[in-house]
Parts: sequence; structure tokens; C-alpha cells
Amino acid sequence: MKNENLFTRIGLMAATAFFLAACANPLDSSKFSASQNPATDSDSETEIDEVSAVPASIIPAHPGKYVILKLDDLHQQVDEAGLPVTKGANAVIHARFKQVAAWLTATGTKASFGLICSNSFYNQAFSDWIKGNAIENGGTFEFWLHGFDHMQDNRYYAEFLGTGLTYQVSHIRQACDRLTANTGLVFHTFAPPGNAGDADSVQAVNQFPSIKVWMYGPSDPSNRMVATNVTTQFIIPRLVELESAPGKVYSLTEFIQRPGDYDSYSLHQGADLCLQGHPSKWDTNSFANFYQVVAFLKSEGYQFTTPYEFHRDVLHLQ
Ligand SMILES: [Zn+2]
Repeated sequence: MKNENLFTRIGLMAATAFFLAACANPLDSSKFSASQNPATDSDSETEIDEVSAVPASIIPAHPGKYVILKLDDLHQQVDEAGLPVTKGANAVIHARFKQVAAWLTATGTKASFGLICSNSFYNQAFSDWIKGNAIENGGTFEFWLHGFDHMQDNRYYAEFLGTGLTYQVSHIRQACDRLTANTGLVFHTFAPPGNAGDADSVQAVNQFPSIKVWMYGPSDPSNRMVATNVTTQFIIPRLVELESAPGKVYSLTEFIQRPGDYDSYSLHQGADLCLQGHPSKWDTNSFANFYQVVAFLKSEGYQFTTPYEFHRDVLHLQ
């Protein structure tokens, strides 16, 4: 796909969406059938991606080309002896998250981490780590809302799919309150567990005006989620994969050469990228691959940013 075609396509979608958004509730969610496709994401869950019926995303023209690292599932989970715990005063951040965070900081590479809030802020050390690393406080990272507990039916799964509006609003509110109470920070970006959502998710997130960005959200022009309502957030699309499966980072050669993916969207066309990864699952190979991919993208002239910074400072959106 040529770059012009991509932007033409996105522009047409945006025009359609703006038209629809201008109408009063034009969308009846019952008209849209959601297909569930196993895909790659997060944790032990199967990602639920749904087919978009109402594309709405656009990335306005801007100088430069940017990469957003969407690194999921940051929370406290082991104690200082390495024993698995999910809560308590001894809970610490997973060592692999600390490893990737240290490398990103040392190399001046901005990134974003998806927080699971019910399993976070068990002690002051964690709150201090978040505060000290937050881009708002001069750090390198944006922390975004990945969910309150990442659970559904007692499984580590799709918290925002089929759980109902009241439940979803409550979980977003609890997550936001927990972040702010412990750090003074405010979430500006959302991406649910498994990138799975429904019409209630759209309504729920719309109730939180401080959330400006939804990564891989509904109306993603890559057609990976169903749009059953119109979001008020800026949607960052999913164009290119960093991982072949949750926790398995492609080699640099694979990253570059996969037909229809990076080479189509970026290498020759300069599209912005939002790359999803799961550092808590990365082995030595995945870390090495990640470092090489980041170095390669820098050599290609990409700048690393965060979702909200991209929205606010690159695109100058409100
Ligand atoms: Zn997740």
C-alpha cells in the first residue's frame, strides 16, 4: 500500500466517522456483528479483536515519524525473594520490567507502560518508582490505564468485554483513583486487556475526559476492533507487530521483512508505529531482539514518544 493510499483511506474513514459523529446517536450496536479472532496479545488470555464497522481514526499530517512503545501488564507481582505474590507490602515490580525500563531510560528511549491498578501501589517504593519515572516528572515513561484488575470471571482476561457499563465505569474510576491517590498522576491513555472492548467500553471511557487516547481502540483503521459507538478519544491504530505472540519479540530480520507489515507501512512510507510488547514474558532472545529493533528504528529516523505526548505535542490535539 502506498503512503498516499493509506492516508487517503484513513482520511475517508475519518470523514465518514465525523459525519456519523455529527448525527445524533446514529449507531445501533445491534447492527454490528462482532467476530472474535484469536490474535496476539497480552498475558495468558486470548486477545479478542473485533472487526471495525465504523472507522474513525486519523493521524493528522505532521513532521517526522514516531514510534510509541505500548508495553502491557505492569504491576507488582513478586516479593523481594522472587516468590510470587499478588499483593502486600513486599510486592515489587517484575524484574524484567525493571530491566526494560532501565535500558529505555539509559538509551533515552521514551515508552509507555500499561498499569494494572488493583495489583499496584501496595507500597511506597512502587508509588515512588512510578512517580520518579513518569514523564510528567521528568522521567521517560507514560503510564496508561490497562485496567483495574485485568480479570473476567476470575480469569486473567477481558475486563472490558461484556461486563456491562456500570462495571466498566466502576473499574475505570477505581483505577484512576488508585493512580492519582498514590502518585498525583492522571491517566491520559487507555488500552484494555486483550485490546477487547464493546459498546459499553466506548461509553464508559467517554465518561473520563482526561483520557484522550485509546491505543488500538475501536474504529482502528486496521479494522481490528468493532466500533459500536463513537469514541471521543484519539485512536492510535495497530499497523505493525513487535511480537509474533505475547512475549515473543520478532528478530530484526523478521520485523523488517514480514510482508504486509513493517515493510508495507513504515520502511518505505514513514507511517507512525505503535508497537505492543509484554516485557514480563521476554526471554534473553526477546530482549536482544527488542534492543535491535529499537536501535534500527532510531537509525531509520524514528523518534520515540508516548501516546499522550504524541497526541498533545506532536499532533497538537486537545
Ligand atoms: Zn494485558
